[in-house]
Amino acid sequence: MSELIILGSGTGIPYLRRASPALLLISQSSVMLIDSGSGTLRRMLEVGMTYQDIDLILYTHIHPDHVSELVPILFASKYAELPRKKGLTILAGPGFNSYFAQLREIHGRWIEPQSYDLTVHETSKAPFLFRDMKIFSKPMVHMPESVGFRIEFEDGRSVVVSGDTDYCQTIVDLASETDLLVLECSFPDGKKVEGHLTPSLAGRIGLESRCKRLILTHLYPVCDQFQIAKPCKEIFGGEVILAEDLMKIRI
Ligand SMILES: [Zn+2]
Ligand SMILES: [Zn+2]
Repeated sequence: MSELIILGSGTGIPYLRRASPALLLISQSSVMLIDSGSGTLRRMLEVGMTYQDIDLILYTHIHPDHVSELVPILFASKYAELPRKKGLTILAGPGFNSYFAQLREIHGRWIEPQSYDLTVHETSKAPFLFRDMKIFSKPMVHMPESVGFRIEFEDGRSVVVSGDTDYCQTIVDLASETDLLVLECSFPDGKKVEGHLTPSLAGRIGLESRCKRLILTHLYPVCDQFQIAKPCKEIFGGEVILAEDLMKIRI
C-alpha cells in the first residue's frame, strides 16, 4: 500500500492555506519527494517525516516555487549532530545538471555531501528504475525543460504527476488509465494563463486519459473564491479531489 501526501497544494504566492508545491509518495521501499517549494521541510515535520527520510526527489521543473527548498534540504543533511547517512537520489528534467552545478558553485561546501552519497540524474526516454518503481517522464507544456512523471509500482498501480503544464497530448498519454492523476489547476475557467490549466481542461485530461482518480493542485489563491472543482466534475466522471495541504491519499 502506498500513500500520497500533499505537502503543498499552492503556488509561488505566499498563502497560509496552501504551501508551495511538494508531494510525498511513501511506498514500501522508499520515501519520494516530488518538488520542494518553500515550506516543504516544515510541512514534512507536520506529517512526522524529516529530510533524513527522503530517498528520492523528483523535480518537474526549476521554477522557484518547485525547487526552492532543495538547498535547505542539502544544508540540513550536513548538520553535524545528525548527519545524513543514507544515499539521496535526484531525478529531474533536462538542464537540471547545469542548474545544480551552479547551485554548487554558489553554495560550495555548505551543500556538498560528506556523510552520504548524492546522485543526480536527468530524465531520458527510458524509464528510470528505482527499487520497486519504474519512473517514466514526458515533456510538459510550461517551460522548455518541464517534465511530468508516471511512477509505476511492481503490483501495476501507478501515480502520475503533471507538475506545471498547459493542456497537451503528452500528459494525456502519460496519464493513460493511471490510478491517480495529480494535475495542476492554477486558475479558474475564464482566468486562464498560458502554460497552466483550468478546471475544465483538467477534466478534459482526466476524461481523455481515462485515469481513475484526479487530484487538482497548484491552486492560486483566486481558485478558492470559486467552486473550483465543479467545471472539472462536469467533464470527468471519475472521482475529483481538491487538494489541501497535509491531505493523505491511499493508492
Ligand atoms: Zn508552479
Ligand atoms: Zn512553473
